[in-house]
Amino acid sequence: MKHVYFFGNGKADGRADMKNLLGGKGANLAEMTSLGIPVPPGFTITTDVCTLYYENNGHLPEELDAQVRDSILQTEAIMGTKFGDPENPLLFSVRSGARMSMPGMMETVLNIGLTSKTIPGFIAKTNNPRFVYDSYRRLIMMYSDVVMEKAAGIEPKEGKGIRHRLESILKTFKESKGYTSDVDLNGDDWKAISDSFKDEIKSALGSEFPDDPYDQLWGGVKAVFSSWNGKRAISYRRIEGIPGEWGTAVNVQTMVFGNTGDDSATGVAFTRNPATGENLFFGEWLQNAQGEDVVAGTRTPNPLNLATKTDGNKESLSLEEFLPDVYKALDGYRTKLENHYRDMQDVEFTIEEGRLWMLQTRSGKRNGPAAIKMAVDMKNEGLINKEEAILRVKPSQLDELLHPMIDPAAELTIDALAKGLPAGPGGAKGQIVFTADDAEAWANDGKTIILLREETSPEDVHGMHVAAAILTAKGGMTSHAALVARGWGKCCIVGCAALQIDIDNKEVHINGQTFKEGDWFTLNGTAGKIYSGELPLLDANPEHNQEYAQLMTWADEVRTLKVRTNADRPEDAAQARGFGAQGIGLCRTEHMFFDPERILAVRKMILAGSQEERRGAVMELLPFQRDDFYGILAAMEDLPVTVRFLDPPLHEFMPQTDEQIDELAGELGITSSVIRTRMGNLHEFNPMLGHRGCRLGVAYPEITEMQSRAIFEATAKLTKEGKNVHPEVMIPLVGTFTEYTNQEKIVRATAAAVMEEQSIEFEFMVGTMIELPRAALTADQIAEHAEFFSFGTNDLTQTTYGFSRDDIGGFLPYYIAEGILDHDPFESLDITGVGQLVKMGVEKGRSVRKNLKIGICGEHGGDPASIDFCHKTGLDYVSCSPFRVPVARLAAAHAVLNNK
Ligand code: PEP
Ligand code: MG
Repeated sequence: MKHVYFFGNGKADGRADMKNLLGGKGANLAEMTSLGIPVPPGFTITTDVCTLYYENNGHLPEELDAQVRDSILQTEAIMGTKFGDPENPLLFSVRSGARMSMPGMMETVLNIGLTSKTIPGFIAKTNNPRFVYDSYRRLIMMYSDVVMEKAAGIEPKEGKGIRHRLESILKTFKESKGYTSDVDLNGDDWKAISDSFKDEIKSALGSEFPDDPYDQLWGGVKAVFSSWNGKRAISYRRIEGIPGEWGTAVNVQTMVFGNTGDDSATGVAFTRNPATGENLFFGEWLQNAQGEDVVAGTRTPNPLNLATKTDGNKESLSLEEFLPDVYKALDGYRTKLENHYRDMQDVEFTIEEGRLWMLQTRSGKRNGPAAIKMAVDMKNEGLINKEEAILRVKPSQLDELLHPMIDPAAELTIDALAKGLPAGPGGAKGQIVFTADDAEAWANDGKTIILLREETSPEDVHGMHVAAAILTAKGGMTSHAALVARGWGKCCIVGCAALQIDIDNKEVHINGQTFKEGDWFTLNGTAGKIYSGELPLLDANPEHNQEYAQLMTWADEVRTLKVRTNADRPEDAAQARGFGAQGIGLCRTEHMFFDPERILAVRKMILAGSQEERRGAVMELLPFQRDDFYGILAAMEDLPVTVRFLDPPLHEFMPQTDEQIDELAGELGITSSVIRTRMGNLHEFNPMLGHRGCRLGVAYPEITEMQSRAIFEATAKLTKEGKNVHPEVMIPLVGTFTEYTNQEKIVRATAAAVMEEQSIEFEFMVGTMIELPRAALTADQIAEHAEFFSFGTNDLTQTTYGFSRDDIGGFLPYYIAEGILDHDPFESLDITGVGQLVKMGVEKGRSVRKNLKIGICGEHGGDPASIDFCHKTGLDYVSCSPFRVPVARLAAAHAVLNNK
């Protein structure tokens, strides 16, 4: 079995379409090599080996050794150096590379092959002892951290890990010598540091640092495989929905050095700006540095070219100015790669003594606004077609356009505390915390937080994910914090040098002021500005974004599902209409009853002693309800409006305080103790399964009658005013068709009465929700009568699983942690289980009423995966909250394209 794929000197065993086997990085290294782009030669060990490694308890397959040695021979032949050779040593990097990029989540070890035998030869060859010992100490630091500690399963306390220990040795050394920067250390210094590092490793980890090149190589390879199941990789996979069985590949590649002197450099670049989508070559580079220096954010890098300099870095030297020929070659590869991959690429490069090497290319992460701009631009440039453009934007990325921003008027009134680099756009406010664990704990307590760090590392992802925004003191636009935040579309500011963080006391000093954990900050991630306190945020307005409008037009041309909204106030309806809603799929009438002006009448209605009394109370509500429906129907003129009859658990309306009970008693002319007795009689053990939904209308038909009357009187009025309105009356929580017909009779009789009274004709529909398993099972019987179905997947999920929708929070975290469920079924539809009932409901319903109109109005109506399912199942529309409407429109287009 072929486990190892070689690449080098224009020839490669692999190809770009072999990502599953070679990982994204390995496949692209092979592809770049074949394109004739200069890539340091090396080889990829396949993801299959990762699987075998786990199946065989951490043992690698036997035949791997020979295949690796063969690839090393080929590499040596190209480079004219030898792995482990005392005179002319070849050094390798070992890096992970999964099918999907997981930035920084897995391990890397550089400079493998430096040993006591090869160091003298390497010094003789480079004539640069300082560089060689600096490289050696980097190997020791990375290797001890990644291989000897993490992969060995050693879990030191925060701040006690080997990397931290070695860093403090370096710090103490520098202090003792009076050095202020790493640049001050000479070769002897780095040699002494390396020796101290090895002593520390021996005493802290109990084993010697390996001095054999093959030991180092295999240690690195195994550590990469182990890192696939490291804590942070697992948590990243969970967040991103990457399956655990994919595994990672390992890339072993010839080391090239960006830190051999002043004509060496390293950098990261994007073929277009990943923060704005602008078609400009955008990147950062550092002179005399290794790649990790750029990504780790320990030095603030220079801009790539003149075109992308900003006010903040206009004094820094760009690569275009410093090494014009190299820049020109790099720009050529930019065009070649983008045309070849037909997508924005994120590349890493190293310049070794003036010679350019490309170390990686991959489709670059981008935020939502950038994704939209690039997709539309690339279609207009003829690089991709309309369908591809639609698929280039993840529905969830639209959320970012809908992001809040700081109210500009308020922002003008206050000076910024400090400024950093604008890594993730939008505005956010929150209470500051200083560690990822604190971020998680505070967020679990329902607090909105901003995570403030010196710089972030992959160990922080869980805290970054729950943060409203991320703020770091160090790092550039391609630092870890920036990449991760951009991937999630989060507000983020990096490289804010004014922050002096005191992690021990959990406080930060900024220009003479001190802020403590829990203090409020507001960030403007678009401008990189930091404010103390809370500033008002404004909702975003995507309508002004032309590319967004274009993309949505294309999506609308492609999709077949209609998108409605769940709204029960005219303002929300109008908002949703602006977002492209094609009607209301669910107007819940409960909130209309909670209005303080009406609640007394509602309580009188529920606690009435006789039908007559109840009727009186109910009819007090009629004028209010008529106005409600008038407003909603008017806002949705020409579009269908589904009004769902009252469906609350009764207890929610009961008076809560003695005062409220007394007030009600006064109104009804009875004593408070009678009220208490009636309340006791109405007490329910399981209100969710109790007297709610159509059961309320069955017991108290006057409520159904009043609501019908309110809808139809509003319809009559609007019709007389010349408006074209389309009410659809929806009966909730039906389990038997007889419940439905019981209620339908009242609705139709009331409609007829209103038409007669008002001498006018109008059209309407009557239908039902399918939100109980029995309704799905008997959908054919129900469809004999109902003119439309709307799946209430909130209740359908509740009653199919038997999970209380209000109480799942108590046990869901355990279910997710134990892998019993992989997601919250109230968020994304359980297609395997609940989905069967939906399918059955559709099939049975349409078996008796061919053109039965069917939608969904549970929360799942705004979830892209659930929308895909709704499309495949033949629903006519999905309905979701106003801000999800654009997301649903795009998801519906994706559903068409992905199911072609
Ligand atoms: C549902 O159950 O899915 C639904 C939309 O109704 P509600 O959430 O109001 O119970
Ligand atoms: Mg429901």
